[in-house]
Amino acid sequence: MAFTLPALPYEPTALEPFMSANTFSYHHGKHHKAYVDKANAAVAGTPMDAMSDVEVVRKAKADGNAGLFNNAAQAWNHSFLWNSLSPSGGGAPTGALKDMLDRDLGGVEKFGEAFKAEAVGHFASGWAWLVHDGQALKIVSTHDADTALVHEGLTPLLTLDLWEHAYYLDYQNARPGFVDAYLAHMINWDFAAANLAAAH
Ligand code: FE
Repeated sequence: MAFTLPALPYEPTALEPFMSANTFSYHHGKHHKAYVDKANAAVAGTPMDAMSDVEVVRKAKADGNAGLFNNAAQAWNHSFLWNSLSPSGGGAPTGALKDMLDRDLGGVEKFGEAFKAEAVGHFASGWAWLVHDGQALKIVSTHDADTALVHEGLTPLLTLDLWEHAYYLDYQNARPGFVDAYLAHMINWDFAAANLAAAH
């Protein structure tokens, strides 16, 4: 099987009150699981079954196989999302990531303003990302299942799910409040730093 539903890297209550165990029970236990199951069902009995999740996402994109891509990319995006959150999240990065954030995006405060503008301004479903484009850090968003993983030259460092299922139980329609809580309390800078280091 190319895809697995990973265990959450923390207890489902660990991010309360910013993201509730109830949200995790649906978002991880039902939405993410459904993407994993559908992607696995689509590759079962094909050579893609032996590939990694990243390889399947890239191949589905290259083949123009939208049905597989949507489920495969959503499976990968959600695994990346859980690691983009931390019970000890928020604050500011240190080291090389801090230096790049200062240089390219004007520091953590300006980053937060720009990330919030991108996430709140993004129409309907999708994902907001902090990425490295080979030279600099950038903030981008993608629609629906689309993922920074398959955008030429981009290395995803952090993401936030902008689908309503990510925040409706805790914030109803208030996406700005959800993004504020992500930036202040949940964003996992250590994960971003590890992804940046791996990209070099
Ligand atoms: Fe989601």
